[in-house]
Amino acid sequence: ETTSEKHGFQAEIQQLLDLVVHSLYTDREIFLRELVSNASDAMEKLRHIEATEKDVHDPGLPLEVTITADKEAGTLTIEDHGIGMTREELVENLGTIAHSGTKAFLQAMKDSGGSPADMIGQFGVGFYSAFMVADEVKVYTRSWRQDGEGLVWTSDGRTGYEIEPAEGVARGSKIVLKLKDDQREYAEDYRVKHLVETYSNFVGFPVMVDGKRVNEVEALWLKNKSEISEEEYKAFYQFQAKAFDEPQYRLHFAADAPIAINALLFVPSENIERMGMSKLDPGVALYCKKVLIDPEPKGLLPEWLRFMKGVIDSADLPLNISRESMQDSALVRKIGQVIVKRIIKMFDKEATGDPEKWQAFYKKFDRFFKEGIATDFANKEALAKLLRFESSMTEAGKLTRFADYLTRAKDGQDTIYYIVGSNRDQIEASPYLEGFRKRGLEVIYFTDAVDEYVVDSLGEFEGKKLVSVAKAGVELEDAELEGESLSEEETKALCEFLKAEFGDRVTKVEAGKRLVDSPVVALTPEDAMTPQMRAMMKAMDE
Ligand code: ADP
Ligand code: MG
Repeated sequence: ETTSEKHGFQAEIQQLLDLVVHSLYTDREIFLRELVSNASDAMEKLRHIEATEKDVHDPGLPLEVTITADKEAGTLTIEDHGIGMTREELVENLGTIAHSGTKAFLQAMKDSGGSPADMIGQFGVGFYSAFMVADEVKVYTRSWRQDGEGLVWTSDGRTGYEIEPAEGVARGSKIVLKLKDDQREYAEDYRVKHLVETYSNFVGFPVMVDGKRVNEVEALWLKNKSEISEEEYKAFYQFQAKAFDEPQYRLHFAADAPIAINALLFVPSENIERMGMSKLDPGVALYCKKVLIDPEPKGLLPEWLRFMKGVIDSADLPLNISRESMQDSALVRKIGQVIVKRIIKMFDKEATGDPEKWQAFYKKFDRFFKEGIATDFANKEALAKLLRFESSMTEAGKLTRFADYLTRAKDGQDTIYYIVGSNRDQIEASPYLEGFRKRGLEVIYFTDAVDEYVVDSLGEFEGKKLVSVAKAGVELEDAELEGESLSEEETKALCEFLKAEFGDRVTKVEAGKRLVDSPVVALTPEDAMTPQMRAMMKAMDE
């Protein structure tokens, strides 16, 4: 294969390019962050391949990012000696949507109307930001594989690209940007240096501009807490998570036993799954002594924690652990268990320490915690403490928790009562609450579509059973009632009459103590699925 090939961009890529190219002038500078971050990714991958003892082409090349600005020619070049790309990889990585988050990105742009620069990195479409400043991009590349060939990918970022063989290409990638006439400021060294300092300070490889190293190469997570400023933490979060928001919570700790762990973890303030992103990949990277093992390790943390960002570094991991064997590793599992416990403890502390902040956060991220209760058996009880909800004893919009419910419970009350409904008004207009209110019993309002499933998974809280007030079989004590009531005979006759009227549509008609103002209420048999649950199962089937 030494031929040159012309390819058209897929339709989505073209839409993406359109958006990117027409984005705000002030946003454009982020292209450099994206290209440096790609170079760094490619070198992290190379380091890992070398650690797993595969033979790489040209093993002696230095692992650094070299940026060269040519003012005369109006070009900017970003070079790395990372893994490089084969012909197939060029097509797949830089020409199709299969690899990148293009679709999700376009959707999120449509939904939020945000600025592309804020989202580009998060959706894995960073490479195309080069076309914000360049009217031609060339990617000279050679794969780490021994049978690789020197190639050059060329595009004007409009309709398509061309791939040709190229002479004298070293392992890795060299991106050459031919800057647009009005973007020539990026061919100035001082401008480029400033951008690297601003956006790429934490890249784990030297970034060289004009032959001099610009960034500080340091692993923040290995440093002592007391040596790190708030600003540095925030900058590291934004760098690592490719985010623009402020981290909401942070967990930084070192442990030696039972496993050596250094962890620096962040909780974002925005839940981007709610912004059109279908499902996040794991966001906490796994390192061993500063060498990246896996940027998105599956099976390290439970899936419900996929919104977490940051770094876990364990010196106890074998450096040559592969991503495939990682998932079966008992050590990795153990690390995950230790970290999850710490994270939940951190949340609990934060939630108790600043309830207002927690509630605001919880309203955006509640689904993750609920998913955790339903899927993470070992941690469901600890997670239940984090749940917040309204109840018959809260004001509308104010949230409470199980622990507070229990302090308000009646002496000897061994159940926690709840009701599932679509909203507070609908619940309060229903007859189900009457008997409970009358007796001063608090009823929790679960109004999220997944809540019933969550309560079913939970079953109880601190030994108190969770009981739906819409189910039959709830025993209530006698209450003082005013007015007349039917005699026993009359009641029996009425029940028989109703049973005959309803026939097979009901299993039983009986007199009970839970109504005060309403004459009848329909209940779900104790062992049967509720209407809400049935509707949900039906929806899931479709
Ligand atoms: P992301 O980095 O989030 O995957 P990008 O649009 O930035 O998305 O890059 C797309 C893909 O192109 C990368 O995943 C990678 O496979 C490939 N790529 C980009 N730059 C390089 C590089 N310098 N070396 C090797 N591969 C690269
Ligand atoms: Mg990228």
